[in-house]
Amino acid sequence: MNGCFSARLEARVQETLKKVFGFDSFKTSLQERAVMTVAKGEKDVFICMPTGAGKSLCYQLPAVLASGITIVISPLIALIQDQVDHLLSLNVKVSSLNSKISAQEKKAIVADLMSEEPQIKLLYITPEMAASSSFQPTLEVLVSRNLLTYLIVDEAHCVSQWGHDFRPDYLRLGSLRHRIPNVPCVALTATATKQVQDDIVTSLKLRQPVTVFKTSCFRSNLFYDVQYKELLTDPYENLKDFCLKALGQKSASGGYLGCGIVYCRMREVCDRLAIELSHRGVKAKAYHAGLKAAERTSVQNEWMEEKIPVIVATISFGMGVDKANVRFVAHWNLAKSMAGYYQESGRAGRDGKISCCRLYYSRTDRDQVSFLIKKEISKLQEKRGTLKESDKAMMTDFDAMVAFCGELGCRHAAIAKYFGDAIPPCNKCCDYCKNPAAVKKHLEALEQCTSSWNRTHIGSSTYSTDQDLYEGGRRGCGGFSKYDEDSRSVDEANEENRKKEWNNFYKQQMKLRKGKEAEKDNFVPPG
Ligand code: ADP
Ligand code: MG
Ligand code: ZN
Repeated sequence: MNGCFSARLEARVQETLKKVFGFDSFKTSLQERAVMTVAKGEKDVFICMPTGAGKSLCYQLPAVLASGITIVISPLIALIQDQVDHLLSLNVKVSSLNSKISAQEKKAIVADLMSEEPQIKLLYITPEMAASSSFQPTLEVLVSRNLLTYLIVDEAHCVSQWGHDFRPDYLRLGSLRHRIPNVPCVALTATATKQVQDDIVTSLKLRQPVTVFKTSCFRSNLFYDVQYKELLTDPYENLKDFCLKALGQKSASGGYLGCGIVYCRMREVCDRLAIELSHRGVKAKAYHAGLKAAERTSVQNEWMEEKIPVIVATISFGMGVDKANVRFVAHWNLAKSMAGYYQESGRAGRDGKISCCRLYYSRTDRDQVSFLIKKEISKLQEKRGTLKESDKAMMTDFDAMVAFCGELGCRHAAIAKYFGDAIPPCNKCCDYCKNPAAVKKHLEALEQCTSSWNRTHIGSSTYSTDQDLYEGGRRGCGGFSKYDEDSRSVDEANEENRKKEWNNFYKQQMKLRKGKEAEKDNFVPPG
């Protein structure tokens, strides 16, 4: 590419940045370099930057500049809708083909794509749509007329079975790619270990040498800490204090300047926590798949508009929610993996201001998740007859989550280690670096409380007596179906089995917890 062309492109990029996207400058120099590289359209590009870094611009701006059409693959219709609405508000010609649109809308979109001079610049589709037979003729025409400028794969970690969010339909993108080998491909994600990155490159057949833009996963404005539930006399009070502190002073008009998210594994616990917090003076509402769609939307809107400061949600909430002033993310339960925790907690502080990420750890919780993962793994093994390395990764990823809580060291360093990054300069932005002695004391106390418990409860090394089991067992734990609500349909088929398993599991635990018989009679199996 000659210098003159390059300078002209640079000027057009800068102009589009201001005129179309309304930004005065690039967020970071990495964002700028990524935009320029994609705009040149010579190479395949892999972009790994944390949530909020501004990855979308890296392909949206080049797509606006290009003469052809850009296809964007995104895993969730909600995410797509968000992007489409945003681009429409900027007057960018964008459309989406997905299962939710009417036949009429679909017809109009296809007609435009087939027309002499298509108006559409960006076409968002789900991976299912990309693989569907109804989409193939359209794709065929676009390819044969040389109208495709870019293939974009957002949330590209979904392609990897090592990732925390594997979607089988993403694997089929390999064959889409196969049909358009010369169209530059850009893959984007916020969370990729080396293994996931390799998977992305292989599955999407990115052409070597791939240009990689990767920032470290370190978010210097996030303060991480862990609370040990077994050591807390009143965990609800602790959570309430945390919410109030993180939300800070109220503004002159009486509202908070920001808001927060509390993640729980179970719907019932969401409901309960929302009540507890509201009771204690922090207005909170629950959000989970057990609510009617209209109610969910209204809770989300109230939270977006800051009418309620705290939303207590299962992890079905958050993907695609672009709210800059989230002052805290609390995890009432352990996440299923380190990558998942990083992504969820990373929804705090997109505006770069100091924000808090707190995780409540309990051994009971650890054992329940570990139990569920083991079940999940053996189910996979049964189905396939063999165990794949990537199945075992579920456990390894969860072990990293547990190590994050239980090891004496910087929390940011633990995250960095997981992603294969260099140790970042935490600068007292975690509980350990702020006060290592206190964390050490807590871990020792936790050790003590477990070992004294072991002495009186021979045979069990792991189950403690706090209210966690109450929440997890008696109040009903739906296992992964309620944990990862996107995979509900698959899980629901196994609902009966799981109920039985939980029943047995619970009874076993109760046997180990003599003297706590009273709770047994009230036990309601999950579901
Ligand atoms: P990611 O996909 O990396 O999580 P997004 O692309 O959704 O991030 O961008 C996060 C936020 O940053 C969005 O609100 C977006 O409008 C904003 N943003 C992106 N680029 C810029 C920029 N150059 N200047 C200001 N804000 C930006
Ligand atoms: Mg994004
Ligand atoms: Zn630290």
